[in-house]
Amino acid sequence: MRKYQHLFFDLDRTLYDFDANNRNALYSIYRQYKLWKKGRIGFDRFMNTYHPINLGLWDDYKQKKITKKRLNVQRFAQTFKALGMNDSMAEDFASDYLKISPEQTRLMPGTLEVLACLKNKYTLHIITNGFEEIQYQKISRCGLGPFFTTVTTSEKAGAQKPDAAIFDLALQSAGASPEHSLVIGDDPESDIRGAKQQGIDQVWLAQDWEESPVEPTYTIHSLRELINLL
Ligand SMILES: [Mg+2]
Repeated sequence: MRKYQHLFFDLDRTLYDFDANNRNALYSIYRQYKLWKKGRIGFDRFMNTYHPINLGLWDDYKQKKITKKRLNVQRFAQTFKALGMNDSMAEDFASDYLKISPEQTRLMPGTLEVLACLKNKYTLHIITNGFEEIQYQKISRCGLGPFFTTVTTSEKAGAQKPDAAIFDLALQSAGASPEHSLVIGDDPESDIRGAKQQGIDQVWLAQDWEESPVEPTYTIHSLRELINLL
């Protein structure tokens, strides 16, 4: 399979262990703000309350109903309110979250080994839904920078995957054509459907043996399978 020249990797939950890192970051701020003492709120309860609120606000942000700043503060303000706590610390909490988040550096299993192997045969790129500053910090702190020729974020493109605009910008920055490109990602909607709509082949990194609503070109269950596939 040598028709591909450019590999476009999603970042969160494909290379960067977003769930573990995010949980660590939130736990560290939860402790710093002594939420247990303030409201007798256990960390799991905090996370279970935060999670759906965060997802809902991200949807609003994607639909351009709210700004980045409002997303960041409101996800904590609404969580505190839902837990019956005073939300006056939400702004500080949100600002600390943005500082601490990119300091977390756990990668998905096999990431560095797989990238080192593929770098010899392909030109590697990142295409990610996220904020410029945060995603670049994650890439740099995790030692991923040297592997990648271009990084395209949704903030820079002004559009989130699966929107065509972010794929167009990524291809254009890379000087790549859709038929010589391959997108690797975990999200059936943003990564797989998004790439497919642009005529780009896709590798779906499936978690927990879930079913994809969109038929991907290839399916893998761990990054290491890429070495044999490519
Ligand atoms: Mg992802």
